[in-house]
Amino acid sequence: MSDHRPRHWSPRRVLVTRSAAEQPHATEILRRCEAAGVPEIVLLPGDRLTGLRGDTDRETYARAKSTLAVVVAPPSARRPQPIPPSADWRIDLARGCPAHCQYCYLAGSLTGPPVTRAYANLDEVLGEIPAKLGQGTVTSASPTRAHEGTTFELSCYTDPLGIEPLTGSLATAVARAGSGAWGNDVQLRFTTKYDDVSDLVGLDHGGRTRARFSVNAAPVAERFDGGTAPVAGRLAALRRLALAGYPVGLTIAPVMPVPDWQQAYGALLDDVGAAVEGVPGLDLTAEIITHRFTPGSRDVLLSWYPRTKLEMEARDRTAKRSKFGGIKYVYPREVMAGLRGWFTAELAARFPEVPLLYWT
Ligand code: SF4
Repeated sequence: MSDHRPRHWSPRRVLVTRSAAEQPHATEILRRCEAAGVPEIVLLPGDRLTGLRGDTDRETYARAKSTLAVVVAPPSARRPQPIPPSADWRIDLARGCPAHCQYCYLAGSLTGPPVTRAYANLDEVLGEIPAKLGQGTVTSASPTRAHEGTTFELSCYTDPLGIEPLTGSLATAVARAGSGAWGNDVQLRFTTKYDDVSDLVGLDHGGRTRARFSVNAAPVAERFDGGTAPVAGRLAALRRLALAGYPVGLTIAPVMPVPDWQQAYGALLDDVGAAVEGVPGLDLTAEIITHRFTPGSRDVLLSWYPRTKLEMEARDRTAKRSKFGGIKYVYPREVMAGLRGWFTAELAARFPEVPLLYWT
């Protein structure tokens, strides 16, 4: 595994709303931001975030992506939502991500300037967990996965490890699950494109958090990821956490049939094999997500990354209608079948013990 230094995000400014400033966890976030040398920390007079918009879309994007907002999650944002196929429930420690991936899935789900909002009322956010224990449609209702417990996905609206050096929220959640505060039959899950796991390695995690790393073939990651840790760093971090006894996982996403994709994804799986070699008691899972977009996410991504080379032509895709009437564009059936067949066979051949939790 190559040498690397963990990749950190350093915002230019931190905005703290008045209500957030009253929360004990905000004090910890501010301590971390000061220690990280954030040049501008602003205590706002009210709860409205101001100063995020620039004169152009470009400036607004740049200002928002370099700002950490510390806010209070309202009850509507705290209510756990079902999040199939990943987990029984979604719990958000934050909303927004500082990285610059040109396919970012958040473009379709979050509106407004892409600022990262860290939730200061962490105890209230995590306080939603007990009411959902034993309920859910993904692991709780599955005869083959019920042993995982009730699952809570922490990375639906953010990359929790990417902002962890500035918030400490993820380590708090992991340690709380590890302490048995929510019993034995619970599992937190997160996925990340970052690699600084130093605050997680030594935690008493109790095996109740599955740390997944979002990885991709070099031609995709090198071209379309931005501001994240290199894939080699993510795999090194996966190894560190696996050696520390964490259940770990691969999120291979978004899969794209780039030229010579079998070779490119084969090289990625070779690197995964090297990263997990010799880990005692390895508990590794895989999730695979093919690239998709919606009309809305395409418009947002093209406004953020006007020169992107990302292929987002509706005419080259198959339109799928969701339960709620929205349209998403996925690869045509024969392309999907080719990708799925290859990944399923390669995973089974290389990692027979690794379950593929879902393919989508
Ligand atoms: S790391 Fe994930 S959430 Fe962040 S910009 Fe990239 S795709 Fe979006």
